[in-house]
Amino acid sequence: MELDWQAIDRWIFGEAWTGSKVRDHVDVLCEQIGPRWASSAAEKEAAEYIRGQFVESGLAGAALEEFELDTWAYDRAEASVGSMPIDLLPYNRCPPCKLEAPLVDAGFGTPHALDAVRDKLKGSIAVMHLALEPFTTPVPANIRLQRLADAGAVAIVAIDSKDGRRVEYHNGGDWREPETAEPPCPAVTTSREHGGLLRRWAGEGKKLRLTVESRFYSAPAHNVVGQIKGSRWPAEKLMLGGHHDTVYGTPGGNDNASGTIAVLETARVLGKLQSELGVAPGMDICFATYSAEEQKFQGASEYVRRHCGDKPRLAINLDELSAGHMKGVVLAFGHLRDFVQAHLDTMSDGLQCHVMSQLDATSDHYPFLRQGIDAAHLWRWRFRGRHADSDYHHEPADSADKLNVRETKEYAGQLARLLLRLSHAAPETWPENEVTREAVQARLGRERETVVRVY
Ligand SMILES: [Zn+2]
Repeated sequence: MELDWQAIDRWIFGEAWTGSKVRDHVDVLCEQIGPRWASSAAEKEAAEYIRGQFVESGLAGAALEEFELDTWAYDRAEASVGSMPIDLLPYNRCPPCKLEAPLVDAGFGTPHALDAVRDKLKGSIAVMHLALEPFTTPVPANIRLQRLADAGAVAIVAIDSKDGRRVEYHNGGDWREPETAEPPCPAVTTSREHGGLLRRWAGEGKKLRLTVESRFYSAPAHNVVGQIKGSRWPAEKLMLGGHHDTVYGTPGGNDNASGTIAVLETARVLGKLQSELGVAPGMDICFATYSAEEQKFQGASEYVRRHCGDKPRLAINLDELSAGHMKGVVLAFGHLRDFVQAHLDTMSDGLQCHVMSQLDATSDHYPFLRQGIDAAHLWRWRFRGRHADSDYHHEPADSADKLNVRETKEYAGQLARLLLRLSHAAPETWPENEVTREAVQARLGRERETVVRVY
């Protein structure tokens, strides 16, 4: 089959731009539905909405896939010094506590700072900067938390490095091993401004009163799936996904209505390309929005278990796309680099294919790469050259306005062009993936306790 790529590209970008439903989706997901903590009624409502959109786009097998989620909820989290309430969010999966204990300033939680206060830490509430200490070998925050807990701190207040009293939900543990990743003791986050006060008060021997009412339980949650069947190689598949859930209390405009909507729009454009122009992908293209990325990737992990016994040729994950225009893709493993770059070059937009120097466990590409599947993500909040809206996630101010409508249209157009090209690349032209799960495990062992580079 000869494809007229010029005509196809023109059609795709016209449809991605003028037929766009991005604005409608943002209104529904961020404003009508709002925060979408996995296993909540709002998450289910979002999942039903997404399934409806997959059906409208003509996807085959559009469905919710239920699984049992190991989840957590909190009803109350408060801290005060004397009568003054302190800015506070609990860590995700913070265990319950009701404490009053002296504050100890543990600096950045690095070894020299710990040595300076070690005799005071037992029974204390430690205050620690979350940022990396300048000029010091970077130590992941989860290891610094663990060391404070090991030294006897009964709780930890982490100081957010953003200013203006912004506070984010943070995660404990190393998500490279999500099964065991937990905060090592009750852990909460305060703002930079209140962190400054707490450090001063620690020097004056003041006490912090801290209450977290939380519980752990299991509940059903839902991934959403659908696909466009390939016309040439039915046993082969490509994958595009992104998580639809959020942390507590945030509408998730950037994290991750942006990625969810780019999945919906890419599916819509490719579905319509087939129904209106008769152009189908060569391989199957599977679409999914995942539950529970914010809860240790449990949704994507379930998806991989159910659907990836045969490895997809490539799984692209979309998360926090409010990072500026699409710049390219970032692979986990190197063997597809030249191949993907060659296909990007046919699009003539200067898009680049990069390879992360470490295995990156910050989003739903991780459960794929952990199984040795070729997985990619895009430019994200921590990379250089992104714009300011990508600084919002895991906080209430990550609202609908943080999603950039025109950029999301571009993502859908570029992803549709790229996936269609890759789907028509004959299987024998793809470099073989020889990455085993064992090789990934060995590499993870070598990379344990390192901070993943941000550029
Ligand atoms: Zn996210």
